[in-house]
Amino acid sequence: MITLKEALKLNKEELNKFKKELKTKIEANPMLNAYIDVNNVGDGVPIAIKDNIQVKDWSVTSGSNILQGYIAPYNATVIEKMAKAGLSPFGRTNMDEFAMGSTTESSFYGKTQNPHNSDYVPGGSSGGSAAAVGAGLAIAALGSDTGGSIRQPASFCGIVGMKPTYGRVSRYGLGAYASSLDQIGPMTQNVEDAAILYDIISGTDDKDSTNARMDDKVTPKLNIDRKLTIAVLPKYIEDASDDVKDAYAKAIEALKAQGHTIVEKEMTDAKFDISAYYITATAEATTNLARYDGIRYGNRVDGKNLEDTFTQTRSNGFGDEVKRRIMLGNFVLSSGYYEAYYVKAQKTRHIIKDNYNKIFEEVDLILSPIAPGTAPKFGELDNPMDMYLSDIYSISVNLAGLPALSLPISKSANGMPIGLQLIAKAYDEQTLFDGSLSLEKEIAYIK
Ligand code: GLN
Repeated sequence: MITLKEALKLNKEELNKFKKELKTKIEANPMLNAYIDVNNVGDGVPIAIKDNIQVKDWSVTSGSNILQGYIAPYNATVIEKMAKAGLSPFGRTNMDEFAMGSTTESSFYGKTQNPHNSDYVPGGSSGGSAAAVGAGLAIAALGSDTGGSIRQPASFCGIVGMKPTYGRVSRYGLGAYASSLDQIGPMTQNVEDAAILYDIISGTDDKDSTNARMDDKVTPKLNIDRKLTIAVLPKYIEDASDDVKDAYAKAIEALKAQGHTIVEKEMTDAKFDISAYYITATAEATTNLARYDGIRYGNRVDGKNLEDTFTQTRSNGFGDEVKRRIMLGNFVLSSGYYEAYYVKAQKTRHIIKDNYNKIFEEVDLILSPIAPGTAPKFGELDNPMDMYLSDIYSISVNLAGLPALSLPISKSANGMPIGLQLIAKAYDEQTLFDGSLSLEKEIAYIK
């Protein structure tokens, strides 16, 4: 597959020919189920779009039954920014329902396969985007990351996935899951393409009140003169699989070989990350999903009266995982338990942020696993608690609002890709890309 950088040099005719071939190739691979729909608007470079990002006049369903039939009335800001840079949305990709999940198994459209082995999950929730790029069925894709949903599927499918600093990329037109954590980001074949796509979609947007309103650009070029100080976390990685530990050791050697300085640090109290995340995310999701009542959007089941219509629409429209999180979110926000759960989670969030800030006083980047192991098989993560626990390495980055990039490092004995992430200070995407380019060069991951 050609890279985004190469595709941006093609003329209109070459692009149209490429897109025709791409469509044929996608249609020849229906079992992968990376795409929900292949549709094309405009004559720019084709980019696959997660099904929770609005493209005007397209269906947008967040992988849910409740939004069947809903057509986006406007473009998300990222789609507008892409159009200005010569990129066109090309197909909606599969995802866990409302971006809640780690395997893409909770989608209304059925599961997506991992392109490296069809018995394994592609990760989630942006599993369709990751599988499309990993299978050579997309030049690049957009995903969204609330607690790891760009970086973890990128790691499972052997591609690059980047979560920007909270506020860098407008959320206008993104189906909200947990508004204080959600960020749209690039999923690409290499680090340079991630930087190119990040530059295109990031920047000021007055339609998003949490937008950082910063328009500085990154230079996506390997800077061999820049030597960084990078923190590694020996104790934090103890719970990861041997495969991941092995990749971690390899990455440390590679970073040393590139002339970077490695220092050992620790993440204190990491055991509270899961609780803080699942309390915060479900509380916000409960509020965001209240709008799906059958009156304003998508599917409706007509009941005996208005209240019954709400109940039937929601009972019929949402899947089990979404219902579980709506109940959990309502519980942690209820007057009797608000102080005990929600307020404590917000305090914990501050402690997590402080921990990162302390480490970043002495280092430029942190090297961390993205998931405890490689992609599991279908059905292996069907216990919700096990699934939540598998987010241990990805969610603190969202709670602290930091930028991070997941990059393929090696493969396990069973042939599944292993990615690791570099984490940077807030708004320091340049250092994130500098470190990632240098690590990528030394590792030279071959599919
Ligand atoms: N797996 C996490 C969750 O289910 C992260 C999802 C995401 O980043 N959208 O909440």
